Amino acid sequence: MDDLFETTWEKILNNIKENVGQSLYNVWFANLMPKNYSQGILKIEVQSKFVKDWLEKKFQHIILKAIKEELPEIKNIEICVSTKNDVNKIITYKKSIQTKFHKVFLEKPLSIFDTNPHTNLNPRYRFDNFVVGKSNELAFAACQAVAKNPGKSHNPLFIYGPVGVGKTHLLQAVGNETLRINKNSKVKYITTEEFTNEFINALKNHSMEDFKTKFREVDILILDDVQFLSGKNTSQEELFHTFNYLYNMYKQIIFSSDRPPRLIPDIEERLKSRFEGGLVIDINPPDIETRLAILKLKSQEKGIILDEEIYEIIAKKITHNIRELEGALSAVLFYYSKNEKISKDKIEEIVKKFSKDYYRKITPKKIIKIICEHYDIKEEDVFKKTRTKNLVEIRQFLIYLLREISQLSYTSIGQILKKDHTTIIYSYEKIVEKIKNKPELNQELETIKSKIIE
Ligand code: ADP
Ligand code: MG
Repeated sequence: MDDLFETTWEKILNNIKENVGQSLYNVWFANLMPKNYSQGILKIEVQSKFVKDWLEKKFQHIILKAIKEELPEIKNIEICVSTKNDVNKIITYKKSIQTKFHKVFLEKPLSIFDTNPHTNLNPRYRFDNFVVGKSNELAFAACQAVAKNPGKSHNPLFIYGPVGVGKTHLLQAVGNETLRINKNSKVKYITTEEFTNEFINALKNHSMEDFKTKFREVDILILDDVQFLSGKNTSQEELFHTFNYLYNMYKQIIFSSDRPPRLIPDIEERLKSRFEGGLVIDINPPDIETRLAILKLKSQEKGIILDEEIYEIIAKKITHNIRELEGALSAVLFYYSKNEKISKDKIEEIVKKFSKDYYRKITPKKIIKIICEHYDIKEEDVFKKTRTKNLVEIRQFLIYLLREISQLSYTSIGQILKKDHTTIIYSYEKIVEKIKNKPELNQELETIKSKIIE
């Protein structure tokens, strides 16, 4: 391609990008390559049949229009699949990004320690890195509207949907965006689990006044996973009063839950009707297009671009939970960091382990067994009160892995290990902090994790 054509092609791609938006562009158009031109027809190459089919079905006219604007002599386009596309061959990724990749990948993703302790917001959750698709576009629009006009557009906003579809991401994005627009606004995000814990502690410590002030002096209160209130009567009552106070002051309240208000068991009627009093919107599991866009975005964030076909394998296998999708992608990337090549079968094998069913089968018992084998200690030592440095640290690893793999609540982990949930939170956070500064520890935990999910 000569320089002139290269600039023209860039213009065409930019044109498409403006038309379809950044995230769709990343998924379908970023790798379009002109192949040859003859008799008014431009042949364009893409990386897989899957992309070809999608482009032909949905975007052919957009591409043609963008091309015609720059090159009016072109009358039509023909999309073909690049012949270089043998998954076993292309997967030797570029050396230049490899170093960057190692660096980025070995540092864990931003952890809870980057969370602002006053707002509980993590800067990693933003609107601009949230991929919008059919499954979440309404929730996305509602959240954006609320961020622009807190307390005025939809109050309260109630978002519900199954686990791993982006509820926390969106709720946090509202907080981050509000602060970006107005750095003086007072935002507080809290999980319902934490809200309840803090409430109980406030009762115990006779510090109810502080607790009340903390949640009433805000402009936006974001309460995540309110299904957790089920059966917790005193916490429900406190929330009811907090809600009324804020609502009457025209302050914004946002809730999330794994189901609609009506279906949360053991919740007082008056609270249910508050939940339903504003706008209630669901998020559904993402369609294939959204899943592909998310995979691309996440791997770009880690500084690596994989072959089209690999994204497709992952996106086809993992359909319901974006956290699992990210987990599978990380595992594939991790494998890459150690091996130059990877077969299709190997990818399938890695990815399979990230589906929900697979994880559900892993019991805390198994996690305990494997970590003890790994460090050559007796299982009962885990439950004893012995405080040798070694044992204390292994217990912390265990807590971390229980949380990461089984996604158990702090309270359930506490019950299993017969410890207070504050100890569990402390231990988990301690390990997250350590991993950030010690890549070798991250490696070690990844190794144990791979033994566990084997
Ligand atoms: P939920 O709260 O519904 O269980 P999360 O918000 O925790 O789900 O999402 C799980 C993971 O998937 C997070 O890392 C989040 O950043 C990511 N995620 C979910 N939806 C999207 C999306 N549409 N675009 C980008 N990342 C997403
Ligand atoms: Mg969540």
